[in-house]
Amino acid sequence: MIFNKATILGIGLIGSSLARNLKQNNDVQTLAIYDKNAENLEKAHALKLGDIYTDNLQTAVADADIVIFATPVCAFGELAQAIKPYLKKGAIITDVGSVKQYSLHEIEKHLNKADGFVVVGGHPVAGTEKSGPENGFASLFKGRWSILTPDENSTPEAIAKITEMWEHCDMKVDTMEAAHHDKVMAAVSHLPQLIAYSIVGTVADLEGYEHKEIIKYSAGGFRDFTRIAGSDPTMWRDIFLTNKQTVLELIQRFVEDLIALERNIRWDEGDKIFNLFKRTQKIRKDVIEARQDQPEHEKRLLEEMARQTNIDNKK
Ligand code: NAP
Repeated sequence: MIFNKATILGIGLIGSSLARNLKQNNDVQTLAIYDKNAENLEKAHALKLGDIYTDNLQTAVADADIVIFATPVCAFGELAQAIKPYLKKGAIITDVGSVKQYSLHEIEKHLNKADGFVVVGGHPVAGTEKSGPENGFASLFKGRWSILTPDENSTPEAIAKITEMWEHCDMKVDTMEAAHHDKVMAAVSHLPQLIAYSIVGTVADLEGYEHKEIIKYSAGGFRDFTRIAGSDPTMWRDIFLTNKQTVLELIQRFVEDLIALERNIRWDEGDKIFNLFKRTQKIRKDVIEARQDQPEHEKRLLEEMARQTNIDNKK
């Protein structure tokens, strides 16, 4: 048992997947679940994800040893301020937010060492395009990385407990500075996501094509982009607005590279195009070898989508 009482704020995809682990792994005596969405709270109750289900922050965090922020990141500041009067001194605060500098800034404005709280930023790098407690599952985190971003408000004891919690979810744990985390994630997650949103929007708006046709013949590429672009709009809006500078720098770089590729095509520079594609093929191989390619649940989802597309095409 790592914690007597743990509280999860926000019982969506990530919060509910963690809740399943905390209970299954016997890491917590009492698990309190708080959400502002009554329907999600009811679903969590029906799924027996915790022990206390409440929309009352005092009930949720009173006596908690650890509070885990798992709402979209733009809600963190308001929640941190609201729970402060009810938190016991020495409580550990952590989060699962996809952007770390903003999340920690918002939390630590209200909860910090000077006020007797311990804060350890965290980000389990795992997810699907779905939302809500009914879509969470315990093996979501299996084999993935959980990044901790400790700072002057953290303690070695709290870092050790949170590391143990994520390791029990079958995650590998890494530690880095919040700013470095945001830079890495902007490259491997935020920019690809933005490009997916943009491409799906562009193709959907193309004139001279039947919408039905685009859906019907959406093999490989477009279909893969729609999977990414089907992700939760609130969560991703918050990520782009809170990791703004890093994302803007990468967009500029991406646009330059895209224009270079455009020029290669225009001037029939086949060698340059081939060399780029050869280099990206090698990166794909490295990703697979590092076992960060599609986890089992994504493969099953894609197989199911392909099966459904075949059925729809035959209709
Ligand atoms: P989600 O499935 O949409 O769940 C979020 C839950 O929090 C919903 O029940 C939502 O209610 C609730 N909520 C929103 N604002 C709230 C507030 N002010 N007070 C209380 N509850 C509130 O989201 P998620 O995908 O689990 O993402 C949660 C966090 O995990 C985000 O910070 C995200 O950056 C991080 N994360 C996500 C992924 C991913 O792939 N999904 C991966 C790693 C980390 P409503 O539905 O009514 O808004």
